[in-house]
Amino acid sequence: MLRLQAVTASYDQPVLRGIDLNVARGEIVCILGPSGGGKSTLLRAVAGLVPHGGLIEVAGEAMVGVPPHRRGVGMMFQDDLLFPHLDVAGNVGFGLRPADPARVAQMLDLVGLSGFGPRGVDTLSGGQAQRVALARALAPQPRLLLLDEPFGALDVVLKAGLVLDVQRVLRELGMTVLAVTHDRQEAFTLADRVAVLRDGTLVQVGTPDELWNEPADMYVARLVGLSVLEGRAYRPEQIRMSAGGPWSARVTGRTFRDGHHLVSARVAGETVVFVCDRALEPGTEVRLAVT
Ligand code: ADP
Ligand code: MG
Repeated sequence: MLRLQAVTASYDQPVLRGIDLNVARGEIVCILGPSGGGKSTLLRAVAGLVPHGGLIEVAGEAMVGVPPHRRGVGMMFQDDLLFPHLDVAGNVGFGLRPADPARVAQMLDLVGLSGFGPRGVDTLSGGQAQRVALARALAPQPRLLLLDEPFGALDVVLKAGLVLDVQRVLRELGMTVLAVTHDRQEAFTLADRVAVLRDGTLVQVGTPDELWNEPADMYVARLVGLSVLEGRAYRPEQIRMSAGGPWSARVTGRTFRDGHHLVSARVAGETVVFVCDRALEPGTEVRLAVT
């Protein structure tokens, strides 16, 4: 449904250096990357709001020269969520020509806000405002939905529930979604596949399980929340790891000696001791780096 090929973008400096990504119909893909990494820029390029290099195709159609309102792409922005001078129904119906009150009611129903139409947007909680913004983006029946840090402003507890609610709504509609976030938990909960953005390129694209089990490099390993033991082996002769595996081990013991934290783990039936940058509790699952 969405195809990105060698997509580049720059302001004073290059921000995106060549993004390749496909999103299948009905799939939810989330780009995970640091703040300032170019996530919003990429979504704006897909929406037709910033110039870019490379190819962007929606439903097989190259988007070059196609203005934003003809792309069939819905977008939920990072901030400026709702129009303050319109009520909830006015916000949800904003993109509908001609006006369609039945569609507005249906969308509010879908996001669990039946009857909220006449409310002022300043009377909504953060989570409700987020749902209204989602309903507004979905109302014109976009072919593709772009979500820019959709849960960014919410507190952690509210966020966890809302991510699942939003996912249910998107699945119900079979919506094709490209989302971006800097929040690992959010990406892993929401997406079928996660794409890790680093230095303007995607360093790994895969299901949450794939990223967890086979991180492409140490950056991804840390990003997905794995403890990584770096540093030299304390007794190198005991390490019999082929490059790339085995990756996983459980800490069996720890000690502090000569100014170093030493951690032991069972690897391929042997106890291996590592020097590492901090103490790790016995029982901790660790990933082993061959350096
Ligand atoms: P993210 O959404 O991942 O936080 P952005 O796409 O917003 O990243 O920004 C990427 C980089 O481009 C940042 O360094 C940002 O300062 C810069 N940038 C974003 N928008 C503009 C702009 N309109 N003009 C100049 N630089 C910009
Ligand atoms: Mg952003």
